[in-house]
Amino acid sequence: MKEMTGFIFSLTAMLAISIGEQPPLLAVKKTIKQEKYSRPSLPDHLKKGRPPKSKVDKRIFPVKGKKEDANTLAEGQNTQSAITYHGGPVMARGVNVYYIWYGNWTSNSAVAILTDFMNSLKGSPWLNIETTYYQISGGVKTPIQNSVTLQKSTFDNYSQGKFLSDNSIIAIVKRAISSGALPLDPIGAYFVLTSADVAETSGFCSQYCGWHSYMQVNAKKIPYAFIGNAARCLSACAAQRTSPNGNAGADAMASVIAHELAEIMTDLYLNAWYDGVGDENADKCAWTFGSTYKAPNGSSANVKLGSRNYLIQQNWINSTPSGRCGLHYP
Ligand SMILES: [Zn+2]
Repeated sequence: MKEMTGFIFSLTAMLAISIGEQPPLLAVKKTIKQEKYSRPSLPDHLKKGRPPKSKVDKRIFPVKGKKEDANTLAEGQNTQSAITYHGGPVMARGVNVYYIWYGNWTSNSAVAILTDFMNSLKGSPWLNIETTYYQISGGVKTPIQNSVTLQKSTFDNYSQGKFLSDNSIIAIVKRAISSGALPLDPIGAYFVLTSADVAETSGFCSQYCGWHSYMQVNAKKIPYAFIGNAARCLSACAAQRTSPNGNAGADAMASVIAHELAEIMTDLYLNAWYDGVGDENADKCAWTFGSTYKAPNGSSANVKLGSRNYLIQQNWINSTPSGRCGLHYP
């Protein structure tokens, strides 16, 4: 049923797109409802001839309404279920982040805002939450270090067009590496950031605001993430329309980047840290912000990194006996 649901979402999204406009905000709400009600009553014959499910095994950051639905459906389950270790590796030695700015980012303050954001995360109390996670390999327990470096950024001028699939995201990362624009880094994490005129047709704005997965490049498995510009659908992917750095799309992207980064560090191959319902650390705290304060322009913020204020989601602190969502650790 899940696949069918995805199919309906894609259909609706593609319909909206084929009209020649960005998916209207109304349509986002509508599709969520449609998904909810169609789930129990889908006749079998409709399942025939559906497009094959995307082969990309990905972990999504849900749009706002979707997360609320999930919370309502699974009352309390999300936070009561402990996150557990499943034996896979984590990014214990720290992460080299690579940004791929896809589409048109000319004169968009997002480039400065999100570059500053990644440059100031290292050593922060927020990122320190990641140090509550570890890997065990050969009997040796290694905690994650509070270390993230924005190593390099590159631009991609619509090499895959304006309507992307999950496989297009893979192609964008592979192209950046094979062209030499970015190195193939054994501790690299590759973030594809798309401009507001770009669609990701597997569900950006209707199902998710971003996602992460991993791919094989030259016998190396590398983690990567898709981060769409939330300016395309602020009501689905942004917490507020007036934002700390005066760019609602970019400020919302900061929270999605933080979310995907936290998950890549603890679950890069999707086999290390997640809970009983499959939620990774940041999933357990999606769309929660803890205590906030007013930024100078009146918007809400909850962390100051470098000279900028941001509103980023909380992350799951893996403390014993039970974890919790928090903005910092300790
Ligand atoms: Zn997630």
